[in-house]
Amino acid sequence: MASTVNIAPSILKKYILCTRCLSRQAKEKVSGNIRRKGICYICNGLMERIDDLLELTLAALEEYRYKSFLLGAMVPSQMLEREDEVRSRFKIKGAESIKSYLTKQLGKMLTKKTGKRVDYVKPDVTINIDLVGNKVTVRSKPIHLYGRYVKRARGLSQRQERCGNCMGKGCVKCDNTGLSGLSSIEGIIVRKLIDAFKCERTKFAWVGGEDKDSLVLNKGRPFFVKVINPRLRFAKPRSVTKNGVHVRFIKRVGGLPDKPLRFKTKVRLLAECECNITSAALAKINALNNTAISFLGKHGREVSRNIYEISAKASGNTLNLMMLADGGFAIKQFVGGDGIAPSISQIVGSKVICKSFDVLDVKFTD
Ligand SMILES: [Zn+2]
Ligand SMILES: [Zn+2]
Repeated sequence: MASTVNIAPSILKKYILCTRCLSRQAKEKVSGNIRRKGICYICNGLMERIDDLLELTLAALEEYRYKSFLLGAMVPSQMLEREDEVRSRFKIKGAESIKSYLTKQLGKMLTKKTGKRVDYVKPDVTINIDLVGNKVTVRSKPIHLYGRYVKRARGLSQRQERCGNCMGKGCVKCDNTGLSGLSSIEGIIVRKLIDAFKCERTKFAWVGGEDKDSLVLNKGRPFFVKVINPRLRFAKPRSVTKNGVHVRFIKRVGGLPDKPLRFKTKVRLLAECECNITSAALAKINALNNTAISFLGKHGREVSRNIYEISAKASGNTLNLMMLADGGFAIKQFVGGDGIAPSISQIVGSKVICKSFDVLDVKFTD
């Protein structure tokens, strides 16, 4: 087996290699004057373009604000194969691969140029240098936020319909948001996040929801949102107010909740009956304090939720109700009486229609 001291000349008798590719095989820096003229058998001139690759990378990073990065490369398989061929012929083991060398070198150059550091575990941005397609792509690690919104005007829905063109994937028509517009509470939040983070898209984890015509008062309803590919990672949006909705971004969190969170909701409800409400019926409603109520949930499964507090007042055929119940309690069903017992309609003895319900408080239960 050839020793590393004299392996370089032997390789050069067989192959034309550039200094960098030869140095890798020899595992030491080989001076340039022994180089033969011609294009490097392994990298096909790639190493001479390393400065161009740096420029391409810097251009791709231009709109990103970040602290750390990780750089990866997609190297054409023929390059790797040619390097393997040279190595097996000269029985070279444990030398650095062209791919690892390239990413390391570019990483060093990038650090020198930008002052940002390499992070192998949790980089702010991941840079992929695609030498097959000759392009550089950058992805920024998602940021997750926890916030709350208050809604003081009726008529705005919580969620936005998906874009009909791309079904939520993001396209030119929806400006990559995946949404049909930005006219909901979700839309107001998304607009603010796009402006602040120059992000691509968002993904929400809501903590319950309310009707389009419901108000959400006091501290408001909590939500979590994943900000996907945020280009401006240091943005700190605090709040946004629009169309009677006030959103506060409270803090950054590690991720979206991995399971549905348990919470209680306090609601104020206005309902109308076909007849006047008797004091006997009122007493029965008020006796539902601390009662578990079963009903058919979304997927046709029976669900049980607790009413912790209830207080009803009536005037004629109008019923005012305050309730503290588990999140996911079917309030309108409970009033109307479909597939749920006991219900307000059943107790009153005639059809009761929910006119409005407002959310007064949403509290996590732990
Ligand atoms: Zn080379
Ligand atoms: Zn779309």
